[in-house]
Amino acid sequence: MSSAPFVRIAELPAHAGQQVVIRGWVTHVRSSGKIAFAVIRDGTGTCQTVFVKTQLPTEVWERFSQLTTETSVAIEGEARAEPRAPGGFEIGVTSLAIIGPSPIDYPIQPKEHGIDFLLDNRHFWLRSPRQRAIAVIRSEIEQAIHDFFYERGFLRVDTPILTAAIGERSGLFATEYFDEGNAYLAQTGQLYGEAAAAAFGKIYTFGPTFRAEKSKTRRHLTEFWMIEPEVAWNDSAANMVLQEDFVAYLVQRVLERRAPELAELERDVTKLQAVKVPFVRLDYAEAVAIVQRKGSATVWGDDLGAEDEALIVADYDRPVFVMNYPKEAKAFYMKENPDDPRTVLCNDCLAPEGYGEIIGGSQREDDYDKLLARITAEGLPLDAYNWYLDLRRYGTFTHAGFGLGLERTVAWICGLQHIREVIAFPRMMHRLRP
Ligand code: ATP
Ligand code: MG
Repeated sequence: MSSAPFVRIAELPAHAGQQVVIRGWVTHVRSSGKIAFAVIRDGTGTCQTVFVKTQLPTEVWERFSQLTTETSVAIEGEARAEPRAPGGFEIGVTSLAIIGPSPIDYPIQPKEHGIDFLLDNRHFWLRSPRQRAIAVIRSEIEQAIHDFFYERGFLRVDTPILTAAIGERSGLFATEYFDEGNAYLAQTGQLYGEAAAAAFGKIYTFGPTFRAEKSKTRRHLTEFWMIEPEVAWNDSAANMVLQEDFVAYLVQRVLERRAPELAELERDVTKLQAVKVPFVRLDYAEAVAIVQRKGSATVWGDDLGAEDEALIVADYDRPVFVMNYPKEAKAFYMKENPDDPRTVLCNDCLAPEGYGEIIGGSQREDDYDKLLARITAEGLPLDAYNWYLDLRRYGTFTHAGFGLGLERTVAWICGLQHIREVIAFPRMMHRLRP
């Protein structure tokens, strides 16, 4: 290689007509005796490289024949605009160095593979264009989440992952913690978020959460990422306005900045373009009436299952809030509804197209006596919740917040059937490797 500058494929347009070096992996090759092509992928894009026998030293031409799928290479040549090539550029090769050969038994071949095989080979599967598109959209959404809250003056607060017994009790992963007994991996950062909201006003957390759920559905992982804003002085109505602004912002951001990746996934973007505020608002009782009319056996008092959620969203082109569930169906910290004390001031946000719940939110119980009664009624260990009750003893305040599941949101925006593809290395009941 000469002293030509090393350039990422996405940056080639700035180097038209120049001699450059690209580094990457071979996705495929073809040759017709006198002219040969290798398509190179470097994570930022793909680029066709052109080898012309009569213009190359013999050893470079012969080296081409050693290129197999996933061989890593450095290639030098002239960057040329070529409208017919993917990415719009190609390299007229002058030099080729093989960095790492790749045996011909590379596991992922251009044919149909079963999902278990692909997950076993997740470390290779990530190299496919489709997986790259998903990762890019996920990263765009993560950045948009930070931007949304930053622009609105929220403080990001990182809450602990190792916790004493607290949260929602069942489905906890436990690990030994010195002389303190068991520590549990966090299922939520919310209770800490509430303490932080009293200190800092508007906060959000963004962290991994863990649920030892034995559910093998297309929307449950044992490790997933959750975004949990908590806002002092927001009531349930303001909480929902924040949610719809937030979700609409994320969708809009992906539409604006990640059109090529949505196209790679063959996403029907008209469905995403319809996601505009205000979202639909249905009282829990109305939602139950809708699903019953459509044949569901759900009765007042039940939580709504995935099938019910799909029945509800079927009538709408945008997300739906189901509000004010019965107390028994929801967590102890949700505020009693003054208009109907059998229910709590909460909402789930259901994504369109059958994707179901992406957010659970509520106004929090700020009345000390009522909260204490709920904790006692649910048989939760009082000593573990003393500090949480303190937030109501010392300057209690109206506040509300929610948890958005990142993987479910990304799966919906990408239009994927299962959330396992949305995280680089998914953790599920039967999967801990790679
Ligand atoms: P579900 O009833 O669908 O299992 P949940 O009501 O238990 O969910 P919440 O405790 O309300 O979930 O969590 C807030 C959000 O976190 C959910 O709306 C969802 O987007 C996401 N979430 C919850 N559990 C999981 C999981 N196991 N895997 C991925 N995302 C999850
Ligand atoms: Mg929920």
